[in-house]
Amino acid sequence: MRISPVLAILVAVVLVLAACGPIEESELPDFSDRQINVVATTGMVGDIVQVVGGDRVEVTTLMGPGIDPHAYKASEGDVEKIGSADIVFYSGLHLEAKLADVFEKMGDQIVTVPVAEGIPINRRIVVGTGVAAYDPHVWFDVELWSIAVEEVRDTLVRIDPAHADAYNERAAAYQELMAELDAYAAEQAAWVPEGQRVLITAHDAFGYFAKAYNFEVLGLQGISTATEAGAGDIQDLADIIVERQIPAIFVETSVSPRTIQALQEAVRDRGYDVVVGGSLFSDAMGDPGTPEGTYLGMVRHNIDTIVGALVGDGN
Ligand SMILES: [Zn+2]
Repeated sequence: MRISPVLAILVAVVLVLAACGPIEESELPDFSDRQINVVATTGMVGDIVQVVGGDRVEVTTLMGPGIDPHAYKASEGDVEKIGSADIVFYSGLHLEAKLADVFEKMGDQIVTVPVAEGIPINRRIVVGTGVAAYDPHVWFDVELWSIAVEEVRDTLVRIDPAHADAYNERAAAYQELMAELDAYAAEQAAWVPEGQRVLITAHDAFGYFAKAYNFEVLGLQGISTATEAGAGDIQDLADIIVERQIPAIFVETSVSPRTIQALQEAVRDRGYDVVVGGSLFSDAMGDPGTPEGTYLGMVRHNIDTIVGALVGDGN
């Protein structure tokens, strides 16, 4: 059996550091006169770290536009980046399912912080059991994602107390913008007639969005993208769309549009036309330098796209 290069590096790193115990935040170096080298997994997590950390952090985000975090595997280069980071922020709640092993194996040499796991259990959506018990897509309830900002802020304050004031100020300013966005999303959602507040997307990424802004979600795939939608699911959903005269369905930038297109065809076969109302940023942000390349911009894009398509007159 061949051992993959990534695994070989991991084993080597683990062996070298086997003598050390798990590293704690308190064992980190003094950052008062140098930047903190951070690795973040998703764009949404990296965005928080960049905004709150400002010029105190050098952030490397592993998952760029269009990347599916459920399926993401660490490359050799990623393992090196993770290994040389001062601290790793990730979303957690089993979103980055295939990175869990890497984090676990490297636990002796890196500090890892799952930012979404500070969200109280009673505010999480239960979808299963064990490690995948909770829906990880918490960033679409803007108020909940604000708790992730606090996790990042508190961690940075602990490891770099000399700059606590700056972290607190930037986090507060960010949270204020998030509160405005939260109110905007609720306001916009109210334009959609109650019966049409149905969100049909490629995978079940919008459970928290639906709960927060009063939509019903009908997904083609489960919570993770690991399971494919079956032909039966597509036919059942097509029936519902026709029955309820749902005007639009949506593709996602980080999931193949194939099943949504198949669904659209199945609806057409029934003599009803459902439009693809646009592309939503679900598990990855847009291109850097565009409005959708930020967390606030991606959420605003989604709410505008969803409301525009479901209201039906394009406004
Ligand atoms: Zn997802």
